[in-house]
Amino acid sequence: SRKKIIAGNWKMNMTPTEAVELVNTLKPLVANDEVDVIFCVPAIDIIPAMEAAKGSNINIGAENMYYEDKGAYTGETSPAMLKDAGVKYVVIGHSERREYFAESDEDVNKKVLKAFEYGITPIVCCGESLTQREQGITLDWIRQQIKIAFLNVTADQAKESVIAYEPIWAIGTGKVATTEQAQEVCSAIRVCIGEIYDQATAAAIRIQYGGSVSAASAPELFAQPDIDGGLVGGASLKPEFGSIVNYNK
Ligand code: 13P
Repeated sequence: SRKKIIAGNWKMNMTPTEAVELVNTLKPLVANDEVDVIFCVPAIDIIPAMEAAKGSNINIGAENMYYEDKGAYTGETSPAMLKDAGVKYVVIGHSERREYFAESDEDVNKKVLKAFEYGITPIVCCGESLTQREQGITLDWIRQQIKIAFLNVTADQAKESVIAYEPIWAIGTGKVATTEQAQEVCSAIRVCIGEIYDQATAAAIRIQYGGSVSAASAPELFAQPDIDGGLVGGASLKPEFGSIVNYNK
């Protein structure tokens, strides 16, 4: 059975000083051996957060990276930089990057392939807008995002991947998807992975739900057969994240 994976996405919050304070505050609260715990933090916070997390079960991840190895790409963070810093997970294709920084499905695919080249596990984000949900095209849209994101990704790599299903209308709105809505899409994603690869790959890949996850909603969401954890924004900056990680206690 799949180990749950619960990740915080700090987004553009926390200075390096605040990052160290937050890791120190959350460290005792997020201890749970049954769950992989990841804090995805701003690039400038990675090294101090990593230092503060030493000796704990917290993995420090990144929120983004570029798909080139190095060179004249002012302002970007390379996969080699993340690897050298000890990063094992990177969020790829968050809806905020797609919306505000014009990231395409093709960019997402390039980043996913590059992450694997460096031994970093991508947390591949997908999700529909409210308009798409109302139009009834959610599952078609998500399947297209997944198919492009995983182009040329091998089955062995896909097995190690994490997918985060984040309905855009549920992000930062306090409007969490219903358990049924979240399970339906996560199940469809697993079926899609089974079609691209095989049943073993579909059974191995971990699929998170994200969008207004709270201590109150986590236990029911994470009990669903196809939801293997969460990608948590706002609540990952608070002691509440400890309750989310310990949803099973
Ligand atoms: P919230 O948990 O703040 O809704 O954010 C979800 C998210 O975008 C995580 O990546």
